[in-house]
Amino acid sequence: MMRVLLVEDDELIGNAVKQALNDAGSAVNWVQDGISALASINTEEYALVLLDLGLPKKDGLQVLQELRQNQSQQSSLPVIVITARDSIEDRIKGLDLGADDYLVKPFSIDELHARIRAVVRRNNGVANPIISNSIMQLNPATGDVIRDEQSFSLSAKEFALLQALMLRPGNIFSRDSLEESIYGWNEEVASNAIEFIIHALRKKLGKDSIKNVRGMGWMVIK
Ligand code: CA
Repeated sequence: MMRVLLVEDDELIGNAVKQALNDAGSAVNWVQDGISALASINTEEYALVLLDLGLPKKDGLQVLQELRQNQSQQSSLPVIVITARDSIEDRIKGLDLGADDYLVKPFSIDELHARIRAVVRRNNGVANPIISNSIMQLNPATGDVIRDEQSFSLSAKEFALLQALMLRPGNIFSRDSLEESIYGWNEEVASNAIEFIIHALRKKLGKDSIKNVRGMGWMVIK
């Protein structure tokens, strides 16, 4: 699906969220304090940050404030605040500081997925939950893709890769950028992993579903 930074100092919640996102095909980098969060945001590209508020070293609200004041393009990175504090005051503060949404603990994994889908959609300027180009429709809620009125189910990685391409149809993606958008830090990536996934996608969806731009990478048409 995409690369997510998870900032959470609670081991149990952190493990559960990371696992759930990995299962859904997202690459997750998990840090456990506010200073590591800012350092990671400054060195890696993320599609989304899940930010706990009560954090060691630097509070989540402070992290959010510094992120939004940052002059780089990372300052507009979507942030979903995760908070155990069910106080209206904290939520308002978070939203005022530029959080895109929030989740109050304990939350269900389904709710987490739904919020992430909504925030990523908004951030990509895609109002319709179905991501489509002129030949295919991808449904993030079901993980299915439809082509020529036929529905195909995809593996998590296949879905993640196709979604990365389809959110920016017409753009060419290099192997490195595709690897970055679907694998996390600690995941072993075989040198031909991307080619392997693309081969599988083409087999299901047709050779022309993903174009190979020689020497540069891959793209889907608009
Ligand atoms: Ca915490």
